[in-house]
Amino acid sequence: MREVASPETKTPKVGFVSLGCPKALTDSELILTQLSAEGYQTSKTFEGADLVIVNTCGFIDDAVRESLDTIGEALAENGRVIVTGCLGAKGGAGEGNLVRRMHPSVLAVTGPHATREVMDAVHANLPKPHDPFTDLVPPAGIKLTPRHYAYLKISEGCNHRCTFCIIPSMRGDLVSRPIGDVLNEARALFESGVKELLVISQDTSAYGVDVKYRTGFWDGKPIRTRMLELVQSLGELAKPYGGWVRLHYVYPYPSVDEVLPLMASGQVLPYLDVPFQHSHPDVLRRMKRPASGERNLERIRRWREACPQIVIRSTFIAGFPGETEEEFEHLLQFMREARIDRAGCFAYSPVEGAAANALPGMLPQEVRERRRALFMEVAEEVSAAKLRERIGASMQVLVDSAPALGRKGGVGRSYADAPEIDGTVQLLPPEKLSKRLAVGEFTQARVVATQGHDLVAVPF
Ligand code: SF4
Repeated sequence: MREVASPETKTPKVGFVSLGCPKALTDSELILTQLSAEGYQTSKTFEGADLVIVNTCGFIDDAVRESLDTIGEALAENGRVIVTGCLGAKGGAGEGNLVRRMHPSVLAVTGPHATREVMDAVHANLPKPHDPFTDLVPPAGIKLTPRHYAYLKISEGCNHRCTFCIIPSMRGDLVSRPIGDVLNEARALFESGVKELLVISQDTSAYGVDVKYRTGFWDGKPIRTRMLELVQSLGELAKPYGGWVRLHYVYPYPSVDEVLPLMASGQVLPYLDVPFQHSHPDVLRRMKRPASGERNLERIRRWREACPQIVIRSTFIAGFPGETEEEFEHLLQFMREARIDRAGCFAYSPVEGAAANALPGMLPQEVRERRRALFMEVAEEVSAAKLRERIGASMQVLVDSAPALGRKGGVGRSYADAPEIDGTVQLLPPEKLSKRLAVGEFTQARVVATQGHDLVAVPF
């Protein structure tokens, strides 16, 4: 069965052929709606169209044949064809994608439910008509961060049920954004001048779990909705811009180990923000956290073996309901052994609606506060020792502030410092009088001292 869009006359014009079942038809409707919303005309014929979209079916052999014939017809009559739908997701008898093998000259191929990817392919091959309202919005969207760094949200919600947390009750279970959307946003951000992308979510390592790591599409190519593939692609996207990719809210699942080689080879920053919250297995169980303390220590050791320059940031809770002296001592010992580079600690405080409120053994506030302070003493010792090890080293620094072109110095951050939450690099006046610093640009700097949580360095 062939459904077609109503004919229109004005350009830019997109011819559209919809084959297949009602699910394919609704995909076609979504694409046609988006085309119309953006001011494109749609046409039921190939003739006179600036390009043609064929929404295919790949269910049975006859449908595959009809789809391939229609693509061939569209190529012969029009020449510029974007393919979407079930056949687009199908592999061939040999390597690669069936549509690409049979019709290598198609402009792009996507799978089903891919309105955004289809629209990206349309935009790349047939620019959008000018819209005086939306054209004022920058392609990367409106950002509240400085121009040189941006947050990239990859999912919403969370499948865990940590007893101290009410996020899942507010935001629901994990919903991963389509990988094509995430990568398109990342590309637009780099193109708009962003130098540092901060990947965020409630649980970055769980990216794609909700969609069973389904194969998405980006740039006309299949790609799995999974942390490893996402991080790999972000690293590749960042390369031509010399940009940084920083990972936040990563849980210590075994799959995270696969990302370490990308850090060791410099594709993404050797920085992991892992909210451990505690180390003692019993406390972690009461918190309903997804990993046990002993294994975390082992995992950190392996991460450091795989990538010696890795910086680990984490947050902890002291004085969780029922925390014994021994459990708290375990946490301090963990901190000393794990040598977490950047650690924050909260004294436990009940959150309305959290399951932990019903746990026995709520500790008096002074005890919770005292434990937090004791933890921070250890954390600061570790952090200060780690910072001192950097004296004499040369580091790449991203400049956040440089009054008077940096002649009197400025403030920046190294790979070890996420904005807002970590330390900074205090930049002294540059070694050479001719050297200038600019906000949002990188500079090399030699570390000469430490100052609290910060490094002091001379740009060169
Ligand atoms: S603390 Fe994090 S992992 Fe746990 S439920 Fe809340 S959002 Fe999910």
